[in-house]
Order: sequence, then C-alpha cells, then structure tokens
Amino acid sequence: MEPKEPIQELSLDPTNWEEMKALGHRMLDDMFDHLQTIRNKPAWESIPDSVKSEFRKPFPEEGEGAEKAYQDFQKFVLPYSVANIHPRFWGWVKGTGTPLGMLSEMLTAGLNINSAGFELSSSYVELQVLSWCKTLLDYPAEASGILVSGGSAANLIGLTVARNAKAGYDIKKLGLQGEAPLFTIYGSQEMHNSMDKTIELLGLGSNALRKIPVRADYSMDIDALKKTIREDKAKGLRPFCIVGNAGTVNTGAFDDLTAIADICKAENLWFHVDGAFGAWAALSPSLRKFVKGMERADSVAFDLHKWMYVQYEVGCCLIRHPGEHQKTFTVGGTYLNPMVRGFAGGPIRWNDHGFQLSRGFRALKVWMSLKEHGAGKFRCLIQQNVDQAQYLVSLVNAAPNLELVAPAPLNLVCFRFVQSGKSDAELNALNQEILLQLQEKGIAVPSSTVLDGKFAIRVAITNHRSKREDFKLLAEEVVRMGLELSK
Ligand SMILES: *Cc1c(COP(=O)(O)O)cnc(C)c1O
Repeated sequence: MEPKEPIQELSLDPTNWEEMKALGHRMLDDMFDHLQTIRNKPAWESIPDSVKSEFRKPFPEEGEGAEKAYQDFQKFVLPYSVANIHPRFWGWVKGTGTPLGMLSEMLTAGLNINSAGFELSSSYVELQVLSWCKTLLDYPAEASGILVSGGSAANLIGLTVARNAKAGYDIKKLGLQGEAPLFTIYGSQEMHNSMDKTIELLGLGSNALRKIPVRADYSMDIDALKKTIREDKAKGLRPFCIVGNAGTVNTGAFDDLTAIADICKAENLWFHVDGAFGAWAALSPSLRKFVKGMERADSVAFDLHKWMYVQYEVGCCLIRHPGEHQKTFTVGGTYLNPMVRGFAGGPIRWNDHGFQLSRGFRALKVWMSLKEHGAGKFRCLIQQNVDQAQYLVSLVNAAPNLELVAPAPLNLVCFRFVQSGKSDAELNALNQEILLQLQEKGIAVPSSTVLDGKFAIRVAITNHRSKREDFKLLAEEVVRMGLELSK
C-alpha cells in the first residue's frame, strides 16, 4: 500500500551541492598553501592540553555540518600534523608524498572503488603498476604481485607464500597442528621488527626466527648463517627461508644478496628480500650494485610510500612463482565465482593474492605519480637523497665534536655529539637531550637508535623537499646544543 504522505528518505549527499563544492575548493586552496609554505613552519609542534581535551569530547547526537567539521580540522588537526612532509623531517623512514599524490587520493576517494578485482579500470591500473615496479627493480616479468598497506603487510604476504610453498605438506589444510615439523627461518640481527611479527602471526613462534650476527658493516655474517643452517638441519629442524635485507632500518646496510641466493639454491630454501626502502637503490646506476642478487629472490617486499614518495599507505610484494602465490590465498566461495563476462569477469582476483577482500584503489596514486615524473626523475631523487646523506657524513667527519656511529652506505646516517673526557653513558644522555630539543624547538626531526651501546641521532633521508642547507643547519645545531648543554 502506498503511504498517504510522501516518505522523507535520507541520504548523506549534501542538500546544497554548490555549498559543498565551494567548501571543497577552499580545502584544496588551503592544502596547497599548506604544502607551499611548509618550509616556514616548525618541523614539529607539541599538542597543547587545551587541544587534546577537544579529542575527549563525546560523539554528538546532532551533526555540526561540513563547514564546522572543516573548521575543527583547521583548528585542532592541521597545526599539529606537520611531520614527514616537512623538509627537515628525517625520523624513522617516512615518505613525503606529493601534491599530485594528494589530488589522486581525492580522485580515488571520489571513485570510492572497492578494488577487489573484477572488470574495472582499477584492475588494469594495478596490474600496470606491478608491471612497472618489476621493470624498475629488474624483477622477472612473469612474477605476480599485489599492492598492500606497506612493508609490514608485504613481508607477511611474502613469508606466508614461503611457508606454504616450502612446507612439504598441505599446510593450508593441516596447519601447524600435531606433527608439523619445526620450521626455522633466518635473517640478520638487524632485521626489521615486522619480521618478528610476521613469524608470530604465521604461528611459527619467535623461536623459529634465527637472528644471525652481523659484521662491522651491519650486513649478515654469511659464514655464521651457513653454520646455523647446518646445525639446525643436523638437529632435524626444517629450514625453509632466508630473509635478506636490502637497506636495514637502523643503518641502511645491505646483506650480500647474491651469497644468500646461492645458499637458498643449494639448500632449497625460499629467498625473501625485505627492501622496504632500500630496494629502490636499484633505480640509480651508481647504487645498483647494492641490490645485486635481489632479482633472484623468490619474493621481494618494498614500500612505495617511503622512498618513492607516494602518499600513505602503499607497499608491494612481488612473488616469483605466481602459482604458489595464488594457491596460498585462494579459498573460493560461491558468492565470489568468476564469470566469463560482465562485472565479475576481469583479469584478476586480488582476493586470491592477499588476505583482503574489500580494498582501496591504492594503485591510482602510484600510477599517476609514476606517469607525472617518469623513471628518470625518481632515479635522480634517489641519488640526490644518497648524495645528501654523504654530504652530512662529510660534515660529521669534518666537525671535531661529531662522530659517525655506523657506516653510512646509503641514505641513512647515524651520528652523535662527542666531547673528550665524557663516558658513553654521559654522551648517551647528552645526545638524547639534543635530539629532544631538536624536535621540541621545531628545528628538525631525526629519530634515534642505539648501536653498540651508543645512542645515535638517526637521519633517514627519503624526503624530496630536503636541501643541503637543511643538513648543514642540522650539523651546526647539534654542535651548538651539545656545547651549550655540556657547559
Ligand atoms: C619501514 C620498514 C618496514 C615496514 O614497512 P611499513 O610500510 O612501515 O609497514 C619493513 N622493513 C624495513 C627495512 C623498513 O624500513
């Protein structure tokens, strides 16, 4: 029966599209201004309590409207968000993003595609991005792959396929219950903590992860690796994988990937490379030697949101054996049956290549950024960041009160303030205070690490906005603060 009164049906679309459009244009102008003037702002600002209290307010029953929500963003969010987009942010390993990256995120959000595969342009865009990544990294064209949230997810994908491919029994069905052999996996002490997490998530237990000592250059001690594998085999354990680092998170060290590939071949082990940022050294002719052997890996995990400067989040895992990849993640479901035509046709099912079903259209921002700049620009920028790191090394070496704490082969420099007569414990406290003041005064944001008991100021350069003068300022400020604090 039709109701007498017309029913008022709700939607989340604006009642006034013109107003929404005007607001959108203002947002765009504001964000462009923000990016254009970012250098004039402090590299970081702490959040006042008055602002934090805003974030404890309860959820309102009545909406405040788009205009007010945007004002709240400007007041409470924007000013306390300056970080990795600033030219003097070098903490951890964080990417900067680009203006077109921001716009492509808007396009992605406008389309709001669930990029699960199917016959949609998003499937083809992602396949093309994967294909370009393979070419850039000199990886076999037949390899499969998938875009994921980042390096952590990419490592998880790679090692899941490794575990399943090397199990020697139907691990998908039988799991690790009962008579599962005791798998072991190898990587260096400098391995990223996403590997520990992965091993725990895969149900192998952290005991399965053999952390091999490193040499003076922080690369894996290959002799110790061989010896550990031999001993484990003699004990009846089941080595299944070696993880090689292409750029460690602490110091940017590279393992001898060719030696690891040889061992994997001889011992029938899966070879996984964690190249979260360092894989991209492949782009620069002078740096390519570092990643030699990576092209032989069974799987490679890397980020695009770090050293390829693409907006968060996006990483990738490439897998040399498409069959093993697909077998690992395919479980079926009648509601997902492919069709020969129509929407459910299409070239790829991403659900058969990873653990997500619904997923965002991450590929668009990568695709547009690669198209915008071309490979040549990225080659130059990667080299530029490494040159900047080497410039900082030269400043450290030239300053009597500064000292390198580890070799800096790539884009990552660990150094500290030193003064004769001070113990390591005193220097550790002093350098920590310098680091905190650098951040709190908004001068620059390096992070820290501890190497060989020494607290180091750690500068990871994956920033396309940094200039040489920024590193000069950093070195000068560290010396100035160090001398002042040790008065
Ligand atoms: C950052 C990083 C990861 C993790 O990547 P996310 O994108 O942060 O998940 C893994 N390995 C290394 C060496 C890294 O630097």
